[in-house]
Amino acid sequence: MADLIRLLPDFVANQIAAGEVVQRPASAVKELLENAVDAGATSIKLIIKEAGKNLIQVIDNGSGMSERDARMCFERHATSKIETANDLLAIHTLGFRGEALASIASIAQVELRSKRAVDEVGTSIRIEGSEFVSQSPVTIPDGTNILVKNLFYNVPARRNFLKSNTLELKYIIEEFCRVAFVNPSIAFTFYNNDKILHQIPGSNLKMRLVNLLGNNYNQRLVPVEQQTGIVDVEGFIGKPEFAKKTRGEQYFFANGRFIKNAYLHHAIENAFRELIPSDSFPTYFLYLTVDPKTIDINIHPTKTEINFQDIKSIYAIIHSAVKQSIGKFNISPTLDFETERSLNLAPIPEGKIISQPVIKVNPDYNPFEKKGFQQERSASLSDQRGWKPLYDPLKDIRFTVDNQETTQHILSNWDEKEDRQSNFRSIQVQNKYIVTHTRSGIMVIDQNNAHERILYERFLLNLEKNNPVAQHQLLPVNVPLSSGDAGLIKEHITDLCNAGFEISDFGNNTVIVHAIPSGCNNDDIPAVIEKILENLKRNGSTGDNPNAAIAKTLAKSLAIPDNKKLQPEEINGLVEQLFACNVPEVTPDGKPVMMIIGFDELNRKFK
Ligand code: ADP
Ligand code: MG
Repeated sequence: MADLIRLLPDFVANQIAAGEVVQRPASAVKELLENAVDAGATSIKLIIKEAGKNLIQVIDNGSGMSERDARMCFERHATSKIETANDLLAIHTLGFRGEALASIASIAQVELRSKRAVDEVGTSIRIEGSEFVSQSPVTIPDGTNILVKNLFYNVPARRNFLKSNTLELKYIIEEFCRVAFVNPSIAFTFYNNDKILHQIPGSNLKMRLVNLLGNNYNQRLVPVEQQTGIVDVEGFIGKPEFAKKTRGEQYFFANGRFIKNAYLHHAIENAFRELIPSDSFPTYFLYLTVDPKTIDINIHPTKTEINFQDIKSIYAIIHSAVKQSIGKFNISPTLDFETERSLNLAPIPEGKIISQPVIKVNPDYNPFEKKGFQQERSASLSDQRGWKPLYDPLKDIRFTVDNQETTQHILSNWDEKEDRQSNFRSIQVQNKYIVTHTRSGIMVIDQNNAHERILYERFLLNLEKNNPVAQHQLLPVNVPLSSGDAGLIKEHITDLCNAGFEISDFGNNTVIVHAIPSGCNNDDIPAVIEKILENLKRNGSTGDNPNAAIAKTLAKSLAIPDNKKLQPEEINGLVEQLFACNVPEVTPDGKPVMMIIGFDELNRKFK
């Protein structure tokens, strides 16, 4: 019997590949734009007609191609970007498979004009459906100008499958934006049917986002930055109050390419939880840089999924970087962080010598040292008010190094010197609000909500790290309960102990409380237990993780109530501890903790 296997002719192979690489005009746009980026262009023009169905043209001022390369580039697996399989491990360009131009040329009429700076004249080449039509020298500027006409002209089934111009244009805009977002230094112009859709200069990343998304984004975005040995994270997130009702402005880029990754997306959603309503979506543009060896991009050419080696760590790093940014920047909602300092600094008296502000941190302080706890405890026992003064947060950093930065940033935003001079820190109003001031304005803090936030973060951290919390010892107090309530307390007894309670079961539906977490306000123990029970019942069905749920419950139950007069050191301690929080602006339930009346606003009021 005759042998059956034969090699497919090239144009058939190319058309099959085209099915993978070019599904619609937007995919061709993506490939052509990426080639221009890979060629080192600083200016790229995209011109389309009829949503790319009739024409897609990309003009760049990049490296251009030699006469031979201009012809070679349409061959399958023709690429200048890799030579050996090893190069696959360190890809720095967007393309590398050498399939895009061959695929596009198999399903369209293509004209390529290209010229390198070293050449006198350029080369013009025409190819239709993989068939070479003509080649000639041309006089053109340095760079490449490629026209793709009548996409799928020879594959009617594919052409008929294309969607309306409106929809296809939407896909193209999306691809255009992805490329533009990740290459802010490149200038882009984008015409659709002879009308300019976008004309954006080369700029920094923030300006690029603002230029593409609209001026109002200047106020909405806050930077994210975190460098680690595993991944560098950079970019911007939208402030929580501008979260969108539809998914959309959520972009991850890894080593200069747009990617999707549901797991990492979750890291961000998680960081925003409690801050935005559950039916809203946070905005983010995050740029990850990793060692190319630690990712796997050698997968389907049009797929945007990508595998990371150490995805768990990357998750944690992104989560913490985003949280930090929320904490750092969210308290001054109307200020542009880049101009914040210069805007609000008072004029410096002539001849005054300026020294760097110093933040005092005791490097030897170990919050977990036994001695520390005992001191704390004896202080609280000797404190006859029953409400232990809140300690110096700079000494009480039980957070990570990262968080120290947050603390210092926010504290440095304070008018500390002025405070010292006038001996003014913060005052309590109506036994309910605390009024203080920052560089940007006057801040009003709700004491109950603030303390809820402080306690929540402290409990959560300790529950997650399994660290025992300092305790405020009591004479044992018996608390009789109903059998249902006693059961509920017993169910949570381990959590409660981890959070700093010392509770034992006395039998007969009675518990004995020996200690409560230090820093918590209340010696009316039965009332505390009552409140915990109430909140346990209410929070029972939230989707929170168990630690978050218990931390929330305890924070609510133990926070300083309204109508409680605070001593000056308690007020100051509360404010400082609040600023040491990851997310000082809202309670775990999303109620606001503070508001700022900006000095700009005040100035306007009195004009
Ligand atoms: P890949 O980008 O995967 O290498 P392509 O089919 O997209 O494959 O392109 C093939 C080759 O053609 C590229 O490797 C590059 O050398 C050359 N090329 C394509 N577009 C351009 C351009 N705009 N400027 C300069 N060279 C280009
Ligand atoms: Mg390419």
